This record gives sequence, structure tokens and C-alpha cells, in this order.
Amino acid sequence: MPLFVQKYGGTSVGTVDKIQHVATKILQAKRRNEDIVVVVSAMSGETDRLLTLARQIQTHPNPRELDVLLSTGEQVTIALLCMALEEKGCPASSYTGGQARILTDAAHTKARIVDIDTTRIRRDLEQGKVVVVAGFQGVNEEGDITTLGRGGSDTTAVALAAALKADECQIYTDVDGVYTTDPRVEPKARRLNRITFEEMLEMASLGSKVLQIRAVEFAGKYNVPLRVLSTFDEGKGTLITYEDETMEQALISGIAFNRDEAKLTVEGVPDRPGIAAKILGPIADANIEVDMIVQNVAEDATTDFTFTVHRNDYAKALDVLNQVKSELSARKVTGDDKIVKVSLVGVGMRSHAGIASKMFRSLADEGINIRMISTSEIKISVVLDEKYLELAVRTLHEAFELDQPLTA
Ligand code: ADP
Ligand code: ASP
Ligand code: MG
Repeated sequence: MPLFVQKYGGTSVGTVDKIQHVATKILQAKRRNEDIVVVVSAMSGETDRLLTLARQIQTHPNPRELDVLLSTGEQVTIALLCMALEEKGCPASSYTGGQARILTDAAHTKARIVDIDTTRIRRDLEQGKVVVVAGFQGVNEEGDITTLGRGGSDTTAVALAAALKADECQIYTDVDGVYTTDPRVEPKARRLNRITFEEMLEMASLGSKVLQIRAVEFAGKYNVPLRVLSTFDEGKGTLITYEDETMEQALISGIAFNRDEAKLTVEGVPDRPGIAAKILGPIADANIEVDMIVQNVAEDATTDFTFTVHRNDYAKALDVLNQVKSELSARKVTGDDKIVKVSLVGVGMRSHAGIASKMFRSLADEGINIRMISTSEIKISVVLDEKYLELAVRTLHEAFELDQPLTA
């Protein structure tokens, strides 16, 4: 019997009616003689609600306690979905992450899955039951509850699919696939039939939150066939696969963007060996992740050093730099947390020159100033003022004709 892991996100289980709808979909799959393991998120808005409660008590909530709190969201939906299935005559059992023996490391609020013991799940499947597992959570070696970071239910689903050697991991959500860019920003965005793991990984790490980065990483590593589809509309969705000759060969697959960025500049630092380490050392010590880094060519033996961080870390990073400013003999520390990063992604870039210049020209024609640039083999990212985000995404979507279906 084919085995599918189906994951339903927060908006797909946001109300009792929607949970009923999900139960009906699962029943249809059972009638097609498929074995089904379901992973569900918390009802939409619930994880945010719980976070707000915690922050009303502690500015930086105790991570262990936060995980106990946040994991309750998913616990609600597994039970409700099993009840809905039972009402429809479909035997089902719910499992929290711990009950499903999803073992993680000890990094509370961003734990990684290290092992899954699937004995119980397999036994249930053999008995013809639907297995419903809470996404986004596991337990560490001590038996303490951990969570996997925002969007982590995607990773639970992929990890279960890998452990159970499922035929496919299906991510059901409120869009009917992966689009050339977020359809909420560019209504002309086009659904992709396929995208490579590599491109999807870039899209996810550059801000496309349709799939959690770790889920894509995991699927690529363990070769789990991964598909994004709509909970509410029929369709084949988007398959994430390895590159092959029959794939649509687009130069650019998509545009990702990230609104969670902030940039900091240390002005007038002496241009000598060790300066970058002296600036970024204390930043790393403060547990702040750095994204882009740019150092200007030195003029008059001094230089400016700019880097970007997550917007949540902006105040802390500014603080750290102001503390080390005199030690660095820097003239000034400045920053801006009203910036965004917009990126073009495509494996076709490898073999084509001129993409960057076309990108920069298109943005310039709209009067959009580029503040920073960074490139890799299959992506080009630019940092822009926040107010230009929508215009930049739409301009690039048009310039690279991403709304046009590919002609094979
Ligand atoms: P879920 O709650 O089901 O996990 P998410 O909100 O995490 O759903 O992910 C789905 C959302 O991702 C969509 O509603 C869409 O706005 C957004 N999104 C961002 N980039 C893309 C993209 N390239 N293609 C499709 N959706 C995207
Ligand atoms: N409920 C968690 C979140 O909102 C996990 C998930 O939905 O994937 O981030
Ligand atoms: Mg999600």
C-alpha cells in the first residue's frame, strides 16, 4: 500500500469546519487505499497568541518553559482531528512529538530532529489506523519538550516521511504550490510545476516562508519526494525534485524577499588586518547571526564595514558595536532597520551572464536605490529601503517575464 505523509498548516486547521474538511480529505485518501500519517500545525494564530502571552510575563521567556507552552497549540489540533476522523468512521490515533518518539537535540525553541522510533506508528498503520502527529515538537534525551522553530511542522512531516520511507511528503497549505514569488505581493505570480531542492532551499533561506528551510534540507538529504499543494483546491501542486533534463528550464525560478533584515555600519575603521574579526567577534559572542557583509575599499587608510542581521537582533547588535567602538578606533556606528532583501533565484544563472546587470538596470529604471549586493552561484540578493519592496518584486517579476508560462 502506498504511504503518504500529509501535513496541514495552521490556516488549514484554523476552524472546526476546516478540521472537518481535512478529515474528509484524509478519508478520501484512505478510500484510495493509501496509508496516511498526518502532521498538523496549531490552529492559525495560536502560536503567535501563546508567544504574546509568554512575553507579557518575561521579555525573553525561559526557553524550556516556552517550548512547553508553544507545543500545546499542536496538541489541540491532533486531538480535534482524531475526533473528527472518528466521527466519520475512520479509526485514528493522535501522538504528541514525545509520544511519537521524535527525539531532538537540546536546543530549545530551535531543536533539530536526531531520531524517530517509528515502531508505534507502524503498528497503528498495520491496524488500518490513520496516525496523527503533532508538528513542530519533539523531546530531548531528558524527555523535555522541545520545539523546532517557526514553521517547524514542515520539518516534522519530512522527517517522518524519511523515517517511514513514505512515497511522498505532501505539504497542504493555503496556496496551491510554490509560486515564482509570494502571490500576496505579486498577484501575477505563477505556480511552478517543479522546482529543484537547491532552488527551493535558496528561496526558503532568502525568505520564502512557504516551506521551512530545514524541511527542504532534510528532504534533499534523504531524497524525500516533497510536494506543496492546496488544502482547499484540487491540483498537482509543486513537486520539489532533483534537477533532470525534462525539467522546465527557466533562467530564473523565483524571487524571494525578507522583511526581517536590519543593517549596521561601522564607519571609519582603520584598514588593517584583523578588523573584520574584531567587529564580528563580539557580534558572534552575543549570539547574533550575520547575513551579508560588505567592506568598502579603503580611502585615507580607513574603511566602512557594513553587515546585516535579523531585525530582532538589531538593537542588541547596535549596543554591542557601540561598546567596542572606541576599541576599534571607529569614527561612528550607524544602522538602519527599515531595509529588506530581495533575491533572484535560479539554477539557470550558472550558465548565463547578464542577469545581474539586467536586475540592477530594472531597479534603477524605477528609481530604486540598491544599498548592498551579494551573489552566489544561483542567486543575486540586493538590500533596499523597505518602502521599495513591493515595487522591486513586481518590477523584477515583469523584467524576467516570470508570469509567462515556459515554452518547452
Ligand atoms: P502554513 O500555515 O500552511 O504552514 P505558511 O503561511 O507557512 O502556511 O506558508 C504559505 C504562505 O507562504 C502562502 O500563503 C504565501 O503567502 C507564502 N509564500 C511566500 N513565498 C511563496 C512562494 N514563492 N510560493 C507560494 N507561497 C509563498
Ligand atoms: N505552529 C508553528 C508555527 O506557527 C509551527 C508550524 O506551523 O509549522 O510556527
Ligand atoms: Mg508554514
